[in-house]
Amino acid sequence: MPIWNPDFECMERSDLDKLQGERLKQIAAYAYHKIPIYRRKFEELGIAPDDINGLDDLGRLPFTTKQDLRDEYPFNNFAVPVEEVVRLHASSGTTGKPTVGGYTQNDLDLWAEVMARTVTSCGVTSKDVAHNAYGYGLFTGGLGFHLGYQTVGATVVPVSGGLTRRQLMLMEDFGATVITCTPSYSLVLAEEAAELGIDFKSRMKVRVGIFGAEPWTEEMRVKIENRLNLEAYDIYGLTEIIGPGVSVECEHHNGMHIFEDHFLPEIIDPKTGGQLPFGEEGELVFTTLTKEAMPVIRYRTRDRTVLHQEKCACGRTMVRMEKVRGRTDDMLIVRGVNVFPSLIEKALLSVDGLEPQYQIILDRPKDRLDKLEIWVEASLTFFEPIDTQALENLRKTAENELSQTLGISARVKLMGPSTIERSIGKAVRVVDKRKLYND
Ligand code: ADP
Ligand code: ZN
Repeated sequence: MPIWNPDFECMERSDLDKLQGERLKQIAAYAYHKIPIYRRKFEELGIAPDDINGLDDLGRLPFTTKQDLRDEYPFNNFAVPVEEVVRLHASSGTTGKPTVGGYTQNDLDLWAEVMARTVTSCGVTSKDVAHNAYGYGLFTGGLGFHLGYQTVGATVVPVSGGLTRRQLMLMEDFGATVITCTPSYSLVLAEEAAELGIDFKSRMKVRVGIFGAEPWTEEMRVKIENRLNLEAYDIYGLTEIIGPGVSVECEHHNGMHIFEDHFLPEIIDPKTGGQLPFGEEGELVFTTLTKEAMPVIRYRTRDRTVLHQEKCACGRTMVRMEKVRGRTDDMLIVRGVNVFPSLIEKALLSVDGLEPQYQIILDRPKDRLDKLEIWVEASLTFFEPIDTQALENLRKTAENELSQTLGISARVKLMGPSTIERSIGKAVRVVDKRKLYND
Protein backbone atom coordinates (compact mmCIF):
# COMPACT_ATOMS: atom_id res chain seq x y z
CA MET A 1 0.00 0.00 0.00
CA PRO A 2 1.26 3.51 -0.73
CA ILE A 3 2.86 5.56 2.04
CA TRP A 4 2.31 9.34 1.96
CA ASN A 5 5.73 10.44 3.21
CA PRO A 6 8.16 7.48 3.24
CA ASP A 7 11.16 9.75 3.89
CA PHE A 8 9.85 10.28 7.39
CA GLU A 9 7.43 7.41 7.98
CA CYS A 10 10.09 4.81 7.09
CA MET A 11 13.13 6.66 8.42
CA GLU A 12 15.98 4.59 9.86
CA ARG A 13 15.63 4.40 13.62
CA SER A 14 19.01 5.99 14.31
CA ASP A 15 18.23 8.95 12.02
CA LEU A 16 14.82 9.33 13.62
CA ASP A 17 16.33 9.32 17.13
CA LYS A 18 18.74 12.02 16.05
CA LEU A 19 15.99 14.14 14.51
CA GLN A 20 13.81 13.77 17.60
CA GLY A 21 16.73 14.70 19.86
CA GLU A 22 17.44 17.89 17.90
CA ARG A 23 13.79 18.86 17.78
CA LEU A 24 13.35 18.15 21.49
CA LYS A 25 16.19 20.51 22.34
CA GLN A 26 14.64 23.22 20.16
CA ILE A 27 11.12 22.85 21.47
CA ALA A 28 12.26 22.84 25.11
CA ALA A 29 14.04 26.17 24.59
CA TYR A 30 11.11 27.55 22.59
CA ALA A 31 8.57 26.64 25.29
CA TYR A 32 10.82 28.02 28.03
CA HIS A 33 11.30 31.37 26.32
CA LYS A 34 7.78 31.86 24.99
CA ILE A 35 5.40 30.40 27.57
CA PRO A 36 5.49 31.59 31.20
CA ILE A 37 4.07 28.36 32.63
CA TYR A 38 6.99 26.40 31.16
CA ARG A 39 9.56 28.85 32.45
CA ARG A 40 7.99 28.40 35.90
CA LYS A 41 7.98 24.63 35.61
CA PHE A 42 11.62 24.51 34.46
CA GLU A 43 12.66 26.77 37.32
CA GLU A 44 10.80 24.67 39.86
CA LEU A 45 12.82 21.65 38.71
CA GLY A 46 16.01 23.68 38.63
CA ILE A 47 16.64 23.07 34.93
CA ALA A 48 17.36 25.36 32.01
CA PRO A 49 17.02 24.77 28.25
CA ASP A 50 20.78 24.14 28.03
CA ASP A 51 20.33 21.02 30.15
CA ILE A 52 18.30 19.41 27.37
CA ASN A 53 20.66 18.05 24.74
CA GLY A 54 18.86 15.08 23.30
CA LEU A 55 16.36 12.27 23.80
CA ASP A 56 18.13 11.00 26.92
CA ASP A 57 17.15 14.18 28.72
CA LEU A 58 13.43 13.78 28.05
CA GLY A 59 12.81 12.41 31.54
CA ARG A 60 14.20 15.58 33.11
CA LEU A 61 11.49 17.75 31.59
CA PRO A 62 8.34 18.66 33.55
CA PHE A 63 4.97 17.08 32.85
CA THR A 64 1.94 19.03 31.62
CA THR A 65 -1.54 18.05 32.80
CA LYS A 66 -4.99 18.91 31.53
CA GLN A 67 -5.43 21.03 34.64
CA ASP A 68 -2.27 23.01 33.78
CA LEU A 69 -3.78 23.87 30.40
CA ARG A 70 -7.15 24.72 31.94
CA ASP A 71 -5.42 27.11 34.36
CA GLU A 72 -4.00 28.98 31.37
CA TYR A 73 -7.42 29.29 29.69
CA PRO A 74 -7.93 30.57 27.14
CA PHE A 75 -4.63 31.63 25.52
CA ASN A 76 -1.91 31.90 28.19
CA ASN A 77 -0.26 28.68 27.07
CA PHE A 78 0.18 29.94 23.50
CA ALA A 79 3.73 30.61 22.35
CA VAL A 80 2.66 33.20 19.78
CA PRO A 81 0.43 36.28 19.96
CA VAL A 82 -3.21 35.56 19.13
CA GLU A 83 -2.83 37.57 15.89
CA GLU A 84 -0.64 34.79 14.55
CA VAL A 85 -3.20 32.13 15.39
CA VAL A 86 -5.39 31.36 12.38
CA ARG A 87 -7.66 28.69 13.91
CA LEU A 88 -9.06 27.77 17.31
CA HIS A 89 -10.59 24.46 18.35
CA ALA A 90 -11.72 23.20 21.75
CA SER A 91 -12.43 19.90 23.41
CA SER A 92 -16.00 19.24 24.48
CA GLY A 93 -15.21 19.73 28.19
CA THR A 94 -18.45 18.51 29.68
CA THR A 95 -17.60 20.11 33.01
CA GLY A 96 -16.08 23.55 33.35
CA LYS A 97 -14.00 25.28 30.72
CA PRO A 98 -12.92 23.40 27.60
CA THR A 99 -9.30 22.87 26.59
CA VAL A 100 -8.37 25.16 23.73
CA GLY A 101 -6.26 24.26 20.71
CA GLY A 102 -4.63 27.09 18.74
CA TYR A 103 -3.01 26.73 15.30
CA THR A 104 -0.73 28.96 13.24
CA GLN A 105 -0.75 28.49 9.47
CA ASN A 106 2.32 26.24 9.84
CA ASP A 107 0.44 24.17 12.42
CA LEU A 108 -2.45 23.73 9.98
CA ASP A 109 0.04 22.65 7.30
CA LEU A 110 1.47 20.14 9.76
CA TRP A 111 -2.04 18.89 10.52
CA ALA A 112 -2.73 18.50 6.80
CA GLU A 113 0.50 16.50 6.46
CA VAL A 114 -0.20 14.07 9.32
CA MET A 115 -3.83 13.66 8.24
CA ALA A 116 -2.71 12.95 4.66
CA ARG A 117 -0.41 10.28 6.09
CA THR A 118 -3.33 9.00 8.16
CA VAL A 119 -5.88 8.54 5.39
CA THR A 120 -3.22 7.15 3.03
CA SER A 121 -2.35 4.58 5.69
CA CYS A 122 -5.98 3.40 5.51
CA GLY A 123 -5.80 3.06 1.72
CA VAL A 124 -7.53 6.33 0.78
CA THR A 125 -6.45 7.95 -2.51
CA SER A 126 -7.59 10.79 -4.78
CA LYS A 127 -10.07 8.35 -6.35
CA ASP A 128 -12.10 8.00 -3.17
CA VAL A 129 -15.33 9.67 -2.12
CA ALA A 130 -15.00 10.30 1.62
CA HIS A 131 -18.15 10.65 3.71
CA ASN A 132 -16.95 12.57 6.77
CA ALA A 133 -19.50 12.25 9.57
CA TYR A 134 -17.28 13.51 12.38
CA GLY A 135 -18.68 16.70 13.88
CA TYR A 136 -17.59 19.92 12.15
CA GLY A 137 -17.06 22.81 14.51
CA LEU A 138 -14.96 23.28 17.60
CA PHE A 139 -14.42 19.52 17.80
CA THR A 140 -11.24 18.66 15.90
CA GLY A 141 -12.59 15.51 14.21
CA GLY A 142 -14.52 17.00 11.29
CA LEU A 143 -12.11 19.68 10.13
CA GLY A 144 -9.07 17.51 10.84
CA PHE A 145 -10.22 14.78 8.48
CA HIS A 146 -11.36 17.40 6.02
CA LEU A 147 -7.78 18.68 5.72
CA GLY A 148 -6.42 15.18 5.18
CA TYR A 149 -8.91 14.29 2.46
CA GLN A 150 -8.31 17.59 0.69
CA THR A 151 -4.56 17.08 0.82
CA VAL A 152 -4.67 13.66 -0.85
CA GLY A 153 -7.23 14.95 -3.35
CA ALA A 154 -10.14 12.71 -2.32
CA THR A 155 -13.69 13.95 -2.84
CA VAL A 156 -14.71 14.96 0.65
CA VAL A 157 -18.35 15.12 1.72
CA PRO A 158 -18.45 17.33 4.85
CA VAL A 159 -21.70 15.91 6.14
CA SER A 160 -20.88 16.22 9.90
CA GLY A 161 -22.97 14.36 12.52
CA GLY A 162 -26.72 13.74 12.77
CA LEU A 163 -29.67 13.29 10.39
CA THR A 164 -28.80 9.64 10.00
CA ARG A 165 -31.36 8.82 7.29
CA ARG A 166 -30.12 11.61 5.10
CA GLN A 167 -26.56 10.43 5.63
CA LEU A 168 -27.46 7.00 4.30
CA MET A 169 -29.12 8.52 1.25
CA LEU A 170 -26.07 10.66 0.51
CA MET A 171 -23.68 7.78 1.05
CA GLU A 172 -25.56 5.74 -1.51
CA ASP A 173 -26.20 8.52 -4.03
CA PHE A 174 -22.67 9.98 -3.92
CA GLY A 175 -21.09 6.52 -3.97
CA ALA A 176 -19.05 6.99 -0.79
CA THR A 177 -16.10 4.59 -0.63
CA VAL A 178 -14.76 5.78 2.72
CA ILE A 179 -16.57 6.74 5.90
CA THR A 180 -15.28 8.48 9.02
CA CYS A 181 -17.11 8.89 12.33
CA THR A 182 -16.98 7.53 15.88
CA PRO A 183 -17.25 3.72 16.09
CA SER A 184 -20.49 4.10 18.04
CA TYR A 185 -22.03 6.27 15.32
CA SER A 186 -21.06 3.73 12.65
CA LEU A 187 -23.37 1.29 14.41
CA VAL A 188 -26.17 3.86 14.42
CA LEU A 189 -25.78 4.13 10.64
CA ALA A 190 -25.86 0.34 10.32
CA GLU A 191 -28.94 0.10 12.48
CA GLU A 192 -30.87 2.78 10.62
CA ALA A 193 -29.91 1.13 7.32
CA ALA A 194 -31.24 -2.20 8.56
CA GLU A 195 -34.49 -0.54 9.57
CA LEU A 196 -34.87 0.97 6.12
CA GLY A 197 -33.99 -2.32 4.46
CA ILE A 198 -30.78 -0.92 2.96
CA ASP A 199 -28.19 -3.65 2.56
CA PHE A 200 -24.66 -2.27 2.85
CA LYS A 201 -23.24 -5.04 0.69
CA SER A 202 -25.44 -4.53 -2.35
CA ARG A 203 -26.26 -0.83 -2.15
CA MET A 204 -23.18 0.88 -0.69
CA LYS A 205 -19.68 1.14 -2.12
CA VAL A 206 -18.02 1.85 1.22
CA ARG A 207 -14.88 -0.27 1.67
CA VAL A 208 -12.95 1.62 4.37
CA GLY A 209 -14.00 3.09 7.72
CA ILE A 210 -11.68 5.18 9.92
CA PHE A 211 -13.05 5.26 13.44
CA GLY A 212 -11.76 6.94 16.60
CA ALA A 213 -12.29 9.60 19.28
CA GLU A 214 -13.45 6.97 21.79
CA PRO A 215 -12.21 3.57 22.96
CA TRP A 216 -13.44 0.47 21.12
CA THR A 217 -12.40 -3.16 21.41
CA GLU A 218 -11.36 -5.77 18.84
CA GLU A 219 -14.74 -7.42 19.45
CA MET A 220 -16.42 -4.16 18.44
CA ARG A 221 -14.30 -4.06 15.28
CA VAL A 222 -15.70 -7.43 14.17
CA LYS A 223 -19.30 -6.24 14.65
CA ILE A 224 -18.68 -3.01 12.74
CA GLU A 225 -16.86 -4.69 9.86
CA ASN A 226 -19.65 -7.23 9.42
CA ARG A 227 -22.50 -4.78 9.64
CA LEU A 228 -21.06 -2.10 7.37
CA ASN A 229 -19.17 -4.47 5.08
CA LEU A 230 -15.89 -2.57 5.27
CA GLU A 231 -12.37 -2.68 6.69
CA ALA A 232 -12.24 -0.73 9.96
CA TYR A 233 -9.15 1.29 10.98
CA ASP A 234 -8.53 2.78 14.41
CA ILE A 235 -7.34 6.39 14.62
CA TYR A 236 -6.22 8.25 17.72
CA GLY A 237 -5.71 11.88 18.56
CA LEU A 238 -6.49 14.64 21.03
CA THR A 239 -7.05 18.38 20.95
CA GLU A 240 -4.09 19.15 23.21
CA ILE A 241 -1.65 17.58 20.73
CA ILE A 242 -3.27 18.46 17.37
CA GLY A 243 -6.59 16.57 17.07
CA PRO A 244 -6.86 13.45 14.89
CA GLY A 245 -3.58 12.62 13.16
CA VAL A 246 -1.46 11.61 16.14
CA SER A 247 -1.54 7.91 15.21
CA VAL A 248 -3.40 5.47 12.99
CA GLU A 249 -3.37 1.81 11.97
CA CYS A 250 -1.85 0.56 8.74
CA GLU A 251 -3.23 -2.34 6.69
CA HIS A 252 -1.72 -4.81 9.19
CA HIS A 253 -3.91 -3.58 12.06
CA ASN A 254 -1.24 -4.35 14.64
CA GLY A 255 -1.35 -1.09 16.54
CA MET A 256 -1.43 2.57 15.53
CA HIS A 257 1.74 4.11 14.11
CA ILE A 258 2.52 7.34 15.94
CA PHE A 259 3.86 10.13 13.74
CA GLU A 260 6.75 10.49 16.11
CA ASP A 261 8.84 12.86 14.01
CA HIS A 262 6.25 15.39 15.29
CA PHE A 263 4.74 13.80 18.41
CA LEU A 264 7.23 12.16 20.74
CA PRO A 265 5.58 9.40 22.82
CA GLU A 266 6.47 7.91 26.20
CA ILE A 267 4.76 5.48 28.53
CA ILE A 268 4.93 6.27 32.23
CA ASP A 269 3.75 4.74 35.44
CA PRO A 270 0.80 7.01 36.28
CA LYS A 271 1.51 6.71 40.01
CA THR A 272 5.24 7.45 40.11
CA GLY A 273 5.71 9.32 36.83
CA GLY A 274 8.66 7.04 35.99
CA GLN A 275 9.29 6.07 32.35
CA LEU A 276 8.34 2.48 31.41
CA PRO A 277 10.01 0.37 28.69
CA PHE A 278 8.40 -0.68 25.40
CA GLY A 279 5.91 -3.50 25.90
CA GLU A 280 4.67 -2.33 29.28
CA GLU A 281 1.26 -0.83 29.90
CA GLY A 282 1.02 2.65 31.35
CA GLU A 283 -0.09 6.21 30.69
CA LEU A 284 0.68 7.67 27.29
CA VAL A 285 2.59 10.98 27.33
CA PHE A 286 3.34 13.22 24.34
CA THR A 287 5.75 16.03 23.60
CA THR A 288 5.00 17.99 20.43
CA LEU A 289 8.27 18.48 18.55
CA THR A 290 7.29 20.99 15.89
CA LYS A 291 4.14 22.85 16.87
CA GLU A 292 4.25 26.65 16.89
CA ALA A 293 1.14 28.05 18.54
CA MET A 294 0.72 25.55 21.33
CA PRO A 295 3.71 23.33 21.96
CA VAL A 296 3.23 20.96 24.89
CA ILE A 297 5.95 19.24 26.88
CA ARG A 298 5.27 15.75 28.26
CA TYR A 299 1.50 16.06 28.15
CA ARG A 300 -0.18 13.38 30.26
CA THR A 301 -3.03 12.03 28.14
CA ARG A 302 -4.48 9.79 30.87
CA ASP A 303 -4.93 7.16 28.13
CA ARG A 304 -3.66 3.68 28.97
CA THR A 305 -1.81 1.70 26.32
CA VAL A 306 1.41 -0.13 25.37
CA LEU A 307 4.09 0.97 22.85
CA HIS A 308 5.99 -1.30 20.45
CA GLN A 309 9.09 -0.33 18.52
CA GLU A 310 9.70 -3.34 16.23
CA LYS A 311 9.52 -2.44 12.56
CA CYS A 312 6.16 -3.19 10.95
CA ALA A 313 5.64 -5.25 7.77
CA CYS A 314 4.22 -2.14 6.06
CA GLY A 315 7.70 -0.58 6.07
CA ARG A 316 6.96 2.17 8.54
CA THR A 317 9.46 2.50 11.37
CA MET A 318 7.19 4.69 13.49
CA VAL A 319 6.42 3.28 16.95
CA ARG A 320 3.04 1.54 17.31
CA MET A 321 0.61 2.05 20.20
CA GLU A 322 -1.89 -0.67 21.03
CA LYS A 323 -5.58 0.10 21.05
CA VAL A 324 -6.31 2.40 23.97
CA ARG A 325 -7.39 0.25 26.89
CA GLY A 326 -9.19 3.07 28.66
CA ARG A 327 -8.15 6.05 30.68
CA THR A 328 -6.22 6.18 33.89
CA ASP A 329 -9.29 7.86 35.37
CA ASP A 330 -11.98 5.57 33.91
CA MET A 331 -11.23 2.68 36.21
CA LEU A 332 -14.32 2.04 38.30
CA ILE A 333 -13.87 0.80 41.81
CA VAL A 334 -16.82 -1.38 42.64
CA ARG A 335 -16.96 -2.93 46.08
CA GLY A 336 -13.18 -2.49 46.23
CA VAL A 337 -12.51 -4.27 42.92
CA ASN A 338 -11.02 -2.47 39.92
CA VAL A 339 -13.32 -2.68 36.90
CA PHE A 340 -12.41 -1.40 33.45
CA PRO A 341 -15.20 -0.48 31.01
CA SER A 342 -13.19 -1.95 28.11
CA LEU A 343 -13.27 -5.37 29.79
CA ILE A 344 -17.04 -5.13 30.15
CA GLU A 345 -17.36 -4.42 26.42
CA LYS A 346 -15.09 -7.35 25.62
CA ALA A 347 -17.13 -9.73 27.78
CA LEU A 348 -20.50 -8.56 26.45
CA LEU A 349 -19.54 -8.77 22.80
CA SER A 350 -18.29 -12.32 23.19
CA VAL A 351 -21.87 -13.42 24.01
CA ASP A 352 -23.99 -14.38 21.00
CA GLY A 353 -27.35 -12.63 20.97
CA LEU A 354 -26.19 -9.37 22.59
CA GLU A 355 -25.98 -6.17 20.58
CA PRO A 356 -23.03 -3.74 20.77
CA GLN A 357 -25.23 -1.23 22.61
CA TYR A 358 -24.70 -1.07 26.33
CA GLN A 359 -24.44 1.18 29.35
CA ILE A 360 -22.77 0.61 32.70
CA ILE A 361 -24.86 1.87 35.61
CA LEU A 362 -23.33 2.24 39.04
CA ASP A 363 -25.36 2.98 42.09
CA ARG A 364 -24.93 3.02 45.83
CA PRO A 365 -28.27 2.37 47.46
CA LYS A 366 -28.31 4.07 50.86
CA ASP A 367 -26.09 2.19 53.36
CA ARG A 368 -25.72 -0.70 50.97
CA LEU A 369 -22.95 -2.06 48.79
CA ASP A 370 -22.28 -0.63 45.32
CA LYS A 371 -24.54 -2.00 42.66
CA LEU A 372 -23.07 -2.66 39.22
CA GLU A 373 -25.72 -3.08 36.59
CA ILE A 374 -25.18 -3.46 32.89
CA TRP A 375 -27.90 -2.57 30.47
CA VAL A 376 -27.42 -4.23 27.14
CA GLU A 377 -29.68 -4.74 24.17
CA ALA A 378 -30.62 -8.25 23.10
CA SER A 379 -30.98 -9.02 19.38
CA LEU A 380 -34.30 -8.45 17.66
CA THR A 381 -34.85 -12.19 17.16
CA PHE A 382 -35.59 -12.59 20.89
CA PHE A 383 -38.55 -10.23 20.59
CA GLU A 384 -40.28 -11.47 17.44
CA PRO A 385 -42.21 -12.95 19.12
CA ILE A 386 -40.87 -12.45 22.63
CA ASP A 387 -39.14 -15.53 23.98
CA THR A 388 -38.83 -15.06 27.74
CA GLN A 389 -37.09 -18.37 28.37
CA ALA A 390 -34.40 -17.65 25.78
CA LEU A 391 -33.96 -14.14 27.17
CA GLU A 392 -33.53 -15.52 30.68
CA ASN A 393 -30.87 -17.94 29.44
CA LEU A 394 -29.13 -15.14 27.59
CA ARG A 395 -29.11 -13.01 30.73
CA LYS A 396 -27.54 -15.81 32.77
CA THR A 397 -24.88 -16.43 30.11
CA ALA A 398 -24.03 -12.74 30.06
CA GLU A 399 -23.82 -12.51 33.86
CA ASN A 400 -21.58 -15.57 33.92
CA GLU A 401 -19.27 -14.18 31.28
CA LEU A 402 -19.03 -10.87 33.14
CA SER A 403 -18.26 -12.40 36.52
CA GLN A 404 -15.57 -14.58 34.91
CA THR A 405 -13.96 -11.55 33.26
CA LEU A 406 -14.36 -9.00 36.05
CA GLY A 407 -14.01 -11.13 39.14
CA ILE A 408 -17.12 -9.66 40.70
CA SER A 409 -20.81 -10.12 40.03
CA ALA A 410 -22.78 -7.72 37.90
CA ARG A 411 -26.47 -7.65 37.20
CA VAL A 412 -27.42 -7.69 33.56
CA LYS A 413 -30.58 -6.02 32.41
CA LEU A 414 -31.56 -7.04 28.90
CA MET A 415 -33.10 -4.27 26.88
CA GLY A 416 -35.20 -4.24 23.74
CA PRO A 417 -33.76 -3.08 20.41
CA SER A 418 -33.01 0.65 20.13
CA THR A 419 -33.80 1.45 23.77
CA ILE A 420 -30.35 2.63 24.84
CA GLU A 421 -29.66 6.19 23.83
CA ARG A 422 -27.58 6.56 20.66
CA SER A 423 -24.97 9.24 20.19
CA ILE A 424 -23.80 11.04 17.08
CA GLY A 425 -20.40 11.66 18.65
CA LYS A 426 -18.76 9.97 21.59
CA ALA A 427 -20.97 7.37 23.30
CA VAL A 428 -21.78 7.68 27.01
CA ARG A 429 -20.98 4.23 28.40
CA VAL A 430 -20.80 4.83 32.13
CA VAL A 431 -23.48 6.37 34.32
CA ASP A 432 -22.08 6.62 37.84
CA LYS A 433 -24.91 7.64 40.13
CA ARG A 434 -22.73 7.11 43.23
CA LYS A 435 -21.17 10.51 42.71
CA LEU A 436 -24.53 12.12 43.39
CA TYR A 437 -24.31 11.10 47.02
CA ASN A 438 -20.58 11.53 47.61
CA ASP A 439 -19.78 14.91 46.11
P1 ADP B 1 -12.82 15.73 24.21
O1 ADP B 1 -12.01 16.20 25.37
O2 ADP B 1 -13.90 16.61 23.77
O3 ADP B 1 -13.22 14.31 24.32
P2 ADP B 1 -10.70 15.14 22.33
O4 ADP B 1 -11.10 14.77 20.97
O5 ADP B 1 -9.51 15.99 22.47
O6 ADP B 1 -11.88 15.87 22.95
O7 ADP B 1 -10.53 13.81 23.17
C1 ADP B 1 -9.35 13.09 23.09
C2 ADP B 1 -9.50 11.82 23.86
O8 ADP B 1 -10.40 10.92 23.17
C3 ADP B 1 -8.22 11.03 23.98
O9 ADP B 1 -7.41 11.48 25.03
C4 ADP B 1 -8.75 9.62 24.21
O10 ADP B 1 -9.11 9.44 25.56
C5 ADP B 1 -9.99 9.58 23.36
N1 ADP B 1 -9.67 8.93 22.08
C6 ADP B 1 -9.42 9.53 20.90
N2 ADP B 1 -9.20 8.61 19.94
C7 ADP B 1 -9.31 7.40 20.52
C8 ADP B 1 -9.18 6.05 20.05
N3 ADP B 1 -8.94 5.75 18.80
N4 ADP B 1 -9.34 5.07 20.97
C9 ADP B 1 -9.60 5.35 22.26
N5 ADP B 1 -9.74 6.58 22.75
C10 ADP B 1 -9.60 7.61 21.88
ZN1 ZN C 1 2.46 -0.79 9.74
